[in-house]
Amino acid sequence: MLWEEGVKVFDSYSEENFRLRAMLFCTINDFPAYGNLSGYSVKGHFACLICEENTSYLQLKHGKKTVYTRHRRFLPRNHPYRRLKKAFNGSPEDDVVCRPSNEEEVYDHVRNIDVVFRKHKKKTVEKNIWKKQSIFFNLPYWCKLDVRHCIDVMHVEKHKVVNPRYLDDLQNEAIRLLCQMEMYFPPSFFDIMVHFIVHLVRDFQICGPVFLRWMYPVERYMKILKGYVKNQLRLEASIIERYIVEEAIEFCSSYMPSCDPIGLPKKRHENIREGKRVRGVRIESVSGKEVNQEHLYILNNTEDVIPYISQHIDEIKSAHPRMSEKWTLNEHNKSFLAWFKKKIYATSNVSENLLRLARGPNTDVITFGGYYINNYLFYSKEEDDKSRVQNSGVTLHAEAVHFSSSKDKNPITASISYFGIIQEIWEIDCHQSVNGLTVILVW
Ligand SMILES: [Zn+2]
Repeated sequence: MLWEEGVKVFDSYSEENFRLRAMLFCTINDFPAYGNLSGYSVKGHFACLICEENTSYLQLKHGKKTVYTRHRRFLPRNHPYRRLKKAFNGSPEDDVVCRPSNEEEVYDHVRNIDVVFRKHKKKTVEKNIWKKQSIFFNLPYWCKLDVRHCIDVMHVEKHKVVNPRYLDDLQNEAIRLLCQMEMYFPPSFFDIMVHFIVHLVRDFQICGPVFLRWMYPVERYMKILKGYVKNQLRLEASIIERYIVEEAIEFCSSYMPSCDPIGLPKKRHENIREGKRVRGVRIESVSGKEVNQEHLYILNNTEDVIPYISQHIDEIKSAHPRMSEKWTLNEHNKSFLAWFKKKIYATSNVSENLLRLARGPNTDVITFGGYYINNYLFYSKEEDDKSRVQNSGVTLHAEAVHFSSSKDKNPITASISYFGIIQEIWEIDCHQSVNGLTVILVW
């Protein structure tokens, strides 16, 4: 039903209904469950579902354990390891691995399997590595999937950072590593889970990032659910009751924002709305270019200056009527500082504030590593690298004029979100009485 018919769902953002469909992308399981779900025989000689009949196995003489070795078959044909005899199993390796079955071939294998639930006479049973047609094949899309079952990575490998650009290198590295392990470890080490390391990269390539198909979040949540059990006789009922109560309380509390919650920890940075500097305070001199940049920034964001900005732009436009909007804006940015200073000094009885603004900021700025404001704490990148949490990312919604090209005659003014990392936090002295002006610099 979820795949073919779907469910009617309301999308509140676009305010319209749409049909939501769901599909089973893959199952995440351990190895025995892999066998149950896929219908493949994961015990015995051909335990690898990807190599199938080409799985290379060895039955140990004394322990009778089946091991899966000969990973040299995955190496390139001319690799020097293939010629080594003594370090490996005593013979050179000339075999190459076959391509794994594709989705249609797998379906062909299981299509005609007739499962009969009764005792067979042993001799009549043909040995087949595919035991049954998995019930998932009833799903119309199931036979089209490349990877149907994923082994939860925590059973195969330890934490590893994978760069998608170097997947081929990683595959070569994995094969080389297995070959080296074959040199030093006894054959009994190579159970089927060790063999699966050669197929890990294939899973990355087909299924994408591993955090989308591992069980860590589910298993962590199991711990939370287990904590809900207070009556050992009625486990599931305990879980359900407590889950519903929690959900109801959370739902109610979001409708009562003004009330003081009992028993919940308070936010650490609550009630620090005023700016407050912390960590690594020092004084630095900045270059003339940077002073001009910060001066222009302050002027552009001060209400008293706005009439002067439009006056300046109008003057440029009347002096150069044929030039484009973009050129006018660039010209305004270049010449506004000098023009503004001249204008203010030439005008009599301007306010003290405008005079201070015209004089511009001091070349010495106080820098610091952290800043409290509006109930948040921000760190500069340098300070952030020392801490475990991330406090240096910022976003800004800014109105800006957008040009499609330098000759665009109809630029659009739109609000756009910009994202950045705080590199430095400066307090700029604008000749104000006591408090300076704090500017957070972001690159
Ligand atoms: Zn295999």
